[in-house]
Amino acid sequence: MTISRRDTILGTTAIALAAGAPDALRAQSPSRLQTQVQGIYRQKIGSVSMTCITDGSVSFPREDGFVSNVPASEVATALEASFRSTDKITLTFAPVVLDLPGRLIVVDTGIGPAAFKSSNGIGGQFHRNLAVAGYDAKAVQQVLITHFHADHISGLLSEDGTSAFPNAEICVPAAEYAFWMDDGNASRASSAVVRTNFERAKRFMTTLDKQIRRYDADKEVAPGVTSIATPGHTPGHSSFFVSSEGESIILQGDVTTTPELFVEHPDWHVWSDMDPVVAEQARRKLYELAAANKTLIHGFHFNFPALGRVSKQGAGYRLVPEIWNAAPNL
Ligand SMILES: [Zn+2]
Repeated sequence: MTISRRDTILGTTAIALAAGAPDALRAQSPSRLQTQVQGIYRQKIGSVSMTCITDGSVSFPREDGFVSNVPASEVATALEASFRSTDKITLTFAPVVLDLPGRLIVVDTGIGPAAFKSSNGIGGQFHRNLAVAGYDAKAVQQVLITHFHADHISGLLSEDGTSAFPNAEICVPAAEYAFWMDDGNASRASSAVVRTNFERAKRFMTTLDKQIRRYDADKEVAPGVTSIATPGHTPGHSSFFVSSEGESIILQGDVTTTPELFVEHPDWHVWSDMDPVVAEQARRKLYELAAANKTLIHGFHFNFPALGRVSKQGAGYRLVPEIWNAAPNL
């Protein structure tokens, strides 16, 4: 079979292959790649070399209360309109490396290396991909944490339970630390999931105690990196504003999780927002600023490489993914 350029562009070759091409053409060569290429995406922000690194994903059934203040049928309609499954939610994870002159920083850490095996390699990829990207976890000097949910802190520990970043200062939001380390708050946990979150937070903070530094909101935490208080998802949830040589990016953490739902509908309350009203306020405040300034945003749960900009649309916003940068010029 001769494959013309025009056929390839129009996709007619693919259709012909699917419809009844000889078996020999369809057979998978054993040497063909059976997995995705490691999710690593580089971009410059001024003099900062930023690398988005995928940790993989987790899927779970969508329950009726996934959005607490909207009928489940309306949520299903929005998912369908985005060509997403209506039965399940898939969350992707994208930690970030900021390679500053003289300082190597990791922002959030994924669901942890132990999850790689238990998920058959679907999640917990961060540490493997970090190494593929050429970064030694021992060389990381600073880890910035947005909040204490499992998908953000679990990669702080190795599979053997020791520090995954033994030489780093681990910077956590002071308000987040105060909330999760308070035994009174833990005793009032509203569900088994929240109780587990308290236990995990305490275990991680205790194990890593010598490396932990608490940072305040709206303060510079590293050269050119400022924390932004974006509470609601958790009490001390923080985002970061990175600025270098006139360029900037907001690392928003979980200001929105599933972007197909909550960017367009900032008033929809996801089950994991601990104070949904405050979370909505934080979301609107950040996106008003980002839309006005056309600031690039990294969303930990946006689709990889998790970069885009928001513009105002109706009562909400529209997420416009960043174009693939084939020549990051690093
Ligand atoms: Zn998250």
